[in-house]
Amino acid sequence: MADFKNELDGVVHSAAHLSKRHVHPKLLKMFEMGGMNAVFERAENQYLWDVDGNRYLDLLSGGGVYFAGRNNPMVHEYLKAVLDSKLPNLSIVNASLLGGMLAEKLLKLAGPHYGKVIFANTGTEATEVAIRFARYVTRRRRFLYLDKAFHGRTYAAISLCGDPHLREGQDPMMPTCTCIRPNDLKELRKELKYGDVAAVFVEPVQGMSCEVMSDEYMREVESLCEQYGTLFVADEVQTGLARTGSWFRSNAVGARPHIMTVSKTLSGGHMPVSAVLVSEEIYQKVYERFQSGPFYFSTFAENNLAMAAGIATLDFLEEMDAPAVAERLGNQLFAGLNELASRYDVIEKVVGKGLMAAVYFKDSAKPMLSAEQKMLNMADSAAFAAAVNVDMYKKHHILVQIPGVGVNAIKVLPPVTCTPEDITTFVNALDDILATYYQGRGPVRSLSEGVVGAAMKQARSLVPSQLLSGFGGDSEKKNL
Ligand code: PLP
Repeated sequence: MADFKNELDGVVHSAAHLSKRHVHPKLLKMFEMGGMNAVFERAENQYLWDVDGNRYLDLLSGGGVYFAGRNNPMVHEYLKAVLDSKLPNLSIVNASLLGGMLAEKLLKLAGPHYGKVIFANTGTEATEVAIRFARYVTRRRRFLYLDKAFHGRTYAAISLCGDPHLREGQDPMMPTCTCIRPNDLKELRKELKYGDVAAVFVEPVQGMSCEVMSDEYMREVESLCEQYGTLFVADEVQTGLARTGSWFRSNAVGARPHIMTVSKTLSGGHMPVSAVLVSEEIYQKVYERFQSGPFYFSTFAENNLAMAAGIATLDFLEEMDAPAVAERLGNQLFAGLNELASRYDVIEKVVGKGLMAAVYFKDSAKPMLSAEQKMLNMADSAAFAAAVNVDMYKKHHILVQIPGVGVNAIKVLPPVTCTPEDITTFVNALDDILATYYQGRGPVRSLSEGVVGAAMKQARSLVPSQLLSGFGGDSEKKNL
């Protein structure tokens, strides 16, 4: 025990190379190529600190799981309490006590339309549960999903994703999944009329594009699904639990999907957990027979720590009135970004809702910058966004992301623990980066510096240190 604690103290300095060697070298290499190679040793709320003491503002938020902040004290407290309690865990034949508590809280937030909660571990598993429920209840096999949709990376889930990159080498996909345009009711109605659609999957704000489904669209999906005997599944894995300024975006716009999936935020950033909220009617249809008890079951789904993390997160978010805070900070964020869009023609659009935003880029009319962009576009359609991403990280110590392969945009998912000053810091950073590009120190230089830096680093690791003594080789090598 004492040994492991000691080991943890030194892990930041000693173990990163193990992950590079054994876990996911390709992904880490991609970040290194962009010069994004700080080693983080401490995390709190919306900040990360690297081993040199630099503070980073984390608007990537672990892909959305840190909405309640990193190392949230309330989540820690609840997890420790569970560990100290010696409660039985995963006994299967007994009810999961903490699972019941978490389900009750979720149902209270979601409203009377929902009667039961099925727990799983990840967002993609929640998608799988929804698919299986829809096939069972309707006995139909066709699914509709939206262009640019993202519902997870398991097999059935990628069959419902609107990004062809995810499918490469995977064909054939789950049969009869049809892609339709977001916010297009005519196309939806046309497909539903065939009467063979089991379910329509919709993210109220799309994770990969940040496109917002209109209020009217969400409500009409509900009524058309009712009309044609199809289930309406809202994937709130990313939008759910206050990120967009309401507990559930679907509810806020007056829609009542038959099934809602949540995950990410619910984890408190510590324990994998997802939940599928279903109407009582759908639940009863799936579990109508005595033998249908184990229709869905996942070994770890209701484990005590996951349930406690969920309870703690909801308590924390309720106590701070997270929907109101997210709405306030979101308004500030969008006002700031839209103001930049009015000054920089390189911003094509700003989309999203609450604390979920994407800034899309297009070619500028300014000749010098436009020439650089054209050059970058030849390499990759998202290369301009990649340059902004690298400058955010290296120059301003802010973590953002590119939302999908080839998407020329940066996306942010600020935690609700952010201050108004953090939002201003981000908007000012983007202002500074774009101003620099307009003044002639363009994005090509930003990107190439990252690549050249990474190549130099690699060279140092291959060349005997005495040959590099003039380049600070020894000190650099320690961090490799
Ligand atoms: N659905 C949405 C909307 C998501 O954003 C994600 C993850 O980004 C998923 C599903 C899949 O979640 P997970 O990575 O936990 O499987």
